[in-house]
Amino acid sequence: MTPIEQLFTLFNETALCLQEELDCSYLEALAETGENLFHGSILQEELSELTVKRLKKQYGEVQLENYSHEDIRKAYQLVILKGMKENVQPNHQMTPDTVGMLVAYLAGKFMKQPAFRLLDPAVGTGNLLMTVLNHLPKQIHAIGVDIDDLLLKLAYVNANLQEHSVQFFNQDSLESLFIDPVDIVIADLPVGYYPNDIRAADYQLKADTGHSYSHHLFIEQSIRHTKPGGYLFFVIPNGLFESEQAGKLHEFLKENTIIQGLLQLPISMFKNKQAAKSIFVVQKKGEDIKPPKQALLVALPSLSKRQEMDRILTEIDKWFQENKG
Ligand code: SAM
Repeated sequence: MTPIEQLFTLFNETALCLQEELDCSYLEALAETGENLFHGSILQEELSELTVKRLKKQYGEVQLENYSHEDIRKAYQLVILKGMKENVQPNHQMTPDTVGMLVAYLAGKFMKQPAFRLLDPAVGTGNLLMTVLNHLPKQIHAIGVDIDDLLLKLAYVNANLQEHSVQFFNQDSLESLFIDPVDIVIADLPVGYYPNDIRAADYQLKADTGHSYSHHLFIEQSIRHTKPGGYLFFVIPNGLFESEQAGKLHEFLKENTIIQGLLQLPISMFKNKQAAKSIFVVQKKGEDIKPPKQALLVALPSLSKRQEMDRILTEIDKWFQENKG
């Protein structure tokens, strides 16, 4: 068995065991087993002696310190995927690690300083955040926010098992956020309508009539919490600039940010063309911040097309040399 398979088996079997005994969902049980692994003890008091014995045996067979953070993340990602198949909500989907790796690569290219503050206001299971933290060799003070308490618990376990210190907040990110400004935001935006019209009224990007788009409000909120000159990396639907409210968003972005790049993810990564996404990179305006000669506009090939991918990466490198060198 590969290390990832060993960890998958451990997470899966212990989660199944807890699910049955606690009569909860698989994902809830997964968070519980993750907590047990992190604390090195069995925290649930209502378990039978036999289950405790069984769990102890299984936990005892694996020493987490012998596994890399990436192996832990990947195994945990696979068990979450399994759990999400049970009852998936399209807006709660985990960010695939290929997207996370691209965000990490870009963030590494844009962020020159060795240490910075990073916010993910839609942290979900933490997969995007952990992928970035595992691939960015910098000193990062990370903050993650999500409205969904189960996903946030999974994220918190994810961070603990990979020894990343992250400050988590379980709240609506479009309400006031009590955090100091950050240098970088990463977010796989929840797409859809935001039901709270009263709260939305506080945003420039609110809809003139009816519910506002939560993805637009997320962009505005993220920019508010970024330092001047800071970078924001959003995973956006390709149709972001095609809706009837796109004009307002465009104006807002022009006023407050410099558009650095738009990288279209390969369509093959998604169920269909409508579901396809891009990585959108903007920089918050500030003193002495100059726009690039030209924004980085790229359509990424399918990741299996090695040669094409190498060619695009060379192009991206060239863009950085010319614009950020
Ligand atoms: N990057 C995440 C990951 O790897 O698991 C997935 C992000 S998912 C596409 C969008 C997330 O936004 C979901 O976890 C959802 O709970 C969260 N969300 C939606 N509306 C929110 C709100 N108003 N405040 C905070 N989080 C919200």
